[in-house]
Amino acid sequence: VMGSKNLKAVVARAGKKGITVADPVKFMSIINELYRPMVEDPLREAWREHGVLIGWPTWAKGGFSYRNFSKYAPEEKVAQLYDPGEFYKTIVKTRLACATCPVGDKGRFDIVAGEYKGKEILVSELLQEIVSTAIKMDIGPDYNKRLVILDTADRYGLDILEFTFMLDWIIDLQERGIVTQEDTDGIELTRDFDTVMAWMEKIAKREGFGDVLAEGWFGAIAKIGRGCEKYAVHCKGLAPAFMDPRINFNPESFEETLNPRGSAAVTAESPAILPMMPLDKIWRHCDRMCLSEDAMEEIFEIPDEFSVPLLTRHVEDWFQLYTALGICARQQIQMRHDFTSMRDLYIAATGWDVSDEDMLKVGERVMNLERAINAVIGFSRKDDKFPEMWFKSIEAVEDPNIKKTLTDYYHTKELTPEDVEKMYDDFYTGRGWDVATGIPTRDKLVEVGLDDMAARLAKEGLIK
Ligand code: SF4
Repeated sequence: VMGSKNLKAVVARAGKKGITVADPVKFMSIINELYRPMVEDPLREAWREHGVLIGWPTWAKGGFSYRNFSKYAPEEKVAQLYDPGEFYKTIVKTRLACATCPVGDKGRFDIVAGEYKGKEILVSELLQEIVSTAIKMDIGPDYNKRLVILDTADRYGLDILEFTFMLDWIIDLQERGIVTQEDTDGIELTRDFDTVMAWMEKIAKREGFGDVLAEGWFGAIAKIGRGCEKYAVHCKGLAPAFMDPRINFNPESFEETLNPRGSAAVTAESPAILPMMPLDKIWRHCDRMCLSEDAMEEIFEIPDEFSVPLLTRHVEDWFQLYTALGICARQQIQMRHDFTSMRDLYIAATGWDVSDEDMLKVGERVMNLERAINAVIGFSRKDDKFPEMWFKSIEAVEDPNIKKTLTDYYHTKELTPEDVEKMYDDFYTGRGWDVATGIPTRDKLVEVGLDDMAARLAKEGLIK
């Protein structure tokens, strides 16, 4: 919405009247109960020090794709890209927290030694940084340079994932001979610090070929031509987060192709974000989300498996519910909440007598609203698709004979394009959307209280 309105920022000024809480005693007793385990968590200090990179070796499980999604780096190599002992040799972190957060895992990083001594860099989380700089751009464990890249991207207003994924693609096109130095202002592009810094500036200032890249995926594909789209890994014009479904086909990687807010804004968080989680962990997560027996039966209908599309549909709603309540998505906060605590907090704060059913509809309403807005601007099922590269095998960087292909979550069978289409069918059916168009039906929009959007879509001729 902000992009299409050319809106750069929204400033909220603090009012003077405060916030009225309907039942402050009850509200604070729930908050205190939730806060105690957060404050007493033996991992709290580790969360504060490492943020989402806590347990980076676990994140690295299965490896990460790189070289424009044509190879993957094994987990042992990826795990070495965050070594706190080395990281904090030249960097000092001052911890920062969002208002009221008892953890505070964000930070200001001061580089205190070396070429970039004196630089201060504000960081919310380092996961996107490690994927985009250390892995995609091969900067490796040079932490100071990685932070300088992140800071420069922020100052230019560039999305670090989008920028590095596009640069990685152009380098791949150059290696394949599709793009030459004639296109790239006489410069040979390589994955290194100087190239990254130079091209951030060229894109931000729209200089030469930087002007082409500044157009984003669709614009650059149209300008370059020559079949370059075959190697472009984007979903609806945005780079995927960092999940490659050939490494882990789970709700997060499936949702990268569906998310109405853009591929990298993944909401389908679940225990399956890590590979090969036992089925009972997935089941317990569904139970925590207060799913109905029918929903559970559908998700776990096939023995020893779970349905990725149907789980995606429910974990998306769950994410939307707790973020609508202002609850942080990071594990150390989110895991302390369950449906009951969220419902009781909401009732204590507002004094509104909301039923469980209505409460559970909140997330579904958000997802339907986002999808309906997407439909108005022209997106539909035709845009929900896996990039072509994801149907090809991916080679281990050190041994091209070791390959991974697209399989189900437990790696019991390979998935074909037809299997993926069937999963989209299951997803739209599970959501109560039109399977042919992927657009919410009138009945569904009315059911979740979006009568006005139903009227709008009908007026546009998008639904009956
Ligand atoms: S609310 Fe979340 S993002 Fe903010 S400091 Fe706490 S854990 Fe970090």
